[in-house]
Amino acid sequence: MAENSNHDVVIIGGGHNGLAAAAYLAKAGQDVLLLEKLDHAGGAAVSARAFDGVDARLSRYSYLVSLLPQEIIDDLGLRIRLARRRYSSYTPDPGSPGRGLLIDNGDAAATAASFASVGAPAAEAAAFDRFYAECRKLTGALWPTMTSPLPTRSEARQLAEAAGADDVWESVIERPIGDAITRGLQSDLVRGVVLTDALIGTFARADSPDLQQNICFLYHLLGGGTGDWDVPIGGMGTVSSELERAAREAGATILTAAEVTRVRPGGTVHYRHDGQERSATADWVLSNVAPVVLDRLRSPEPMPGPGAGAGAGAGAAAVAPVNPNHLREGSQVKVNLLLKRLPQLLDRSIGPEAAFGGTFHINETWTQLDDAYRAAEQGTIPDPLPCEIYCHSLTDPSILSTELQASGAHTLTVFGLHVPDRLVTAENNEAMRTALQAAVVNSLNSVLAEPIEDLLLTGADGTPCIETRTTLDIQRAVGMPRGNIFHGGLDWPFMEDDAPRDTPARRWGVSTDDPRILLCGSGARRGGAVSAIGGHNAAMAVLESLALASEGLASEGLTS
Ligand SMILES: Cc1cc2nc3c(=O)[nH]c(=O)nc-3n(C[C@H](O)[C@H](O)[C@H](O)COP(=O)(O)OP(=O)(O)OC[C@H]3O[C@@H](n4cnc5c(N)ncnc54)[C@H](O)[C@@H]3O)c2cc1C
Repeated sequence: MAENSNHDVVIIGGGHNGLAAAAYLAKAGQDVLLLEKLDHAGGAAVSARAFDGVDARLSRYSYLVSLLPQEIIDDLGLRIRLARRRYSSYTPDPGSPGRGLLIDNGDAAATAASFASVGAPAAEAAAFDRFYAECRKLTGALWPTMTSPLPTRSEARQLAEAAGADDVWESVIERPIGDAITRGLQSDLVRGVVLTDALIGTFARADSPDLQQNICFLYHLLGGGTGDWDVPIGGMGTVSSELERAAREAGATILTAAEVTRVRPGGTVHYRHDGQERSATADWVLSNVAPVVLDRLRSPEPMPGPGAGAGAGAGAAAVAPVNPNHLREGSQVKVNLLLKRLPQLLDRSIGPEAAFGGTFHINETWTQLDDAYRAAEQGTIPDPLPCEIYCHSLTDPSILSTELQASGAHTLTVFGLHVPDRLVTAENNEAMRTALQAAVVNSLNSVLAEPIEDLLLTGADGTPCIETRTTLDIQRAVGMPRGNIFHGGLDWPFMEDDAPRDTPARRWGVSTDDPRILLCGSGARRGGAVSAIGGHNAAMAVLESLALASEGLASEGLTS
């Protein structure tokens, strides 16, 4: 006989967004049960000792924070420290890798000289600054709306116009972002640096008509209104563990190793825990899992048994027609490395501390990004593979043991672009992992004075400290369907003018077709990335509904 329990709210999934929702709702006095399939919470916002016997706690999947509002940190009393990076980015010139563009936030003159050194026209540095200053007018206007009910498109546009961002609204929201980049900038390399913001985890071209690249671009610049991407001190796991602490201290029950297997209309959630089938009923069910995973959990068909991939069944029969945007594939390969020391560059004019101190772009010129898209579209791994690299331990050595710090060791995280999930299947996954790792290593070595393989530390089991994750690996590890790091296609942070706004869930962008089931994760409108905004907004929708219900009762004279 299955055990059953009753709650105000059941949350499916303990990613950082589910934890944020749990913390807000428990603080408001709700009885909250959160069910997490894995043996730990955090989802894709976790730190892990990835290499056998090596005391390095890597941000295993997500690594930088931009979109987490200070308001949420303050509301929940989170002890999170974010460090700003001095260098914005370094991009070697693939045609001549002995030189590169270093954008140094602390030295405008050196940055201007660096633009000249890669052959950019004289006015390019100023044009680059102007481009981002214009974008900041738009992001500065929209950022404060992220933790409020959704504005309509017209309302958002009015906010932009009031901030003097009419032109940039046209460029970023209405037309493919490629137009603005090619109009504003001349250099192939500089255009590429800007375009990467539109392509993280998103398989699109600069001129794709569905504008997914524009939405991705907007989110990459939106955080704090400035688009700074900061380093979470202690690693990404600190963000989730602080949210978990806040939720537990507020009284939420967090059950790990609890896999939800079915969600029934009426608020009954079935799950497996300790080898037992159990169920929990609630007034509200909040879904931190991706929308297609939720569809599958709500499907009348039986769920696959334990051991099936977390995203298993994504795309299978669902209760309502699946929104095609929810099925969008992920498009990246993730590689973590632990090095004896930072590598020397072919560009002798720049030390590795500066080059790896910001985002290191490799083989990401405008032309290379477009060539890579075409190669992937034709079913091959791009060569060279466009990659973004970041070194956590330069900004925050605390993720390494004192011995590793003293030895000069460093972590590197690589995010390879334009590897759409369509290239990866259950049958070829291992071979693809090997091939993608080789592609990343080749791309990296194309700008180094020494092979990166020679610098890898070795784990206690004798294997080199390098781990590679395909889109399928990510689906299996944390349940992101098709390895999509945003749980599906992104949506604009506003609703269309004619969209219904009749319920709190719709106003907050967290609704499903069942009024008792809300999205509280990356799949909520505005939920993508490590932001806790999906969790916050779902919690606000529940609390607003409760307030409206109690006002209704009061006005009918039914409360004391
Ligand atoms: C490689 C990679 C790099 C990234 N880099 C960044 C970055 O640098 N900065 C950034 O802001 N964002 C980044 N992202 C995106 C970011 O990590 C996600 O948008 C964010 O973690 C989503 O959080 P979430 O809480 O909504 O969902 P998730 O983190 O996906 O958590 C969902 C949770 O639900 C659980 N679950 C799944 N199925 C079930 C079930 N049946 N029953 C119970 N529990 C279940 C999962 O185990 C998981 O814990 C990256 C993502 C990836 C994969």
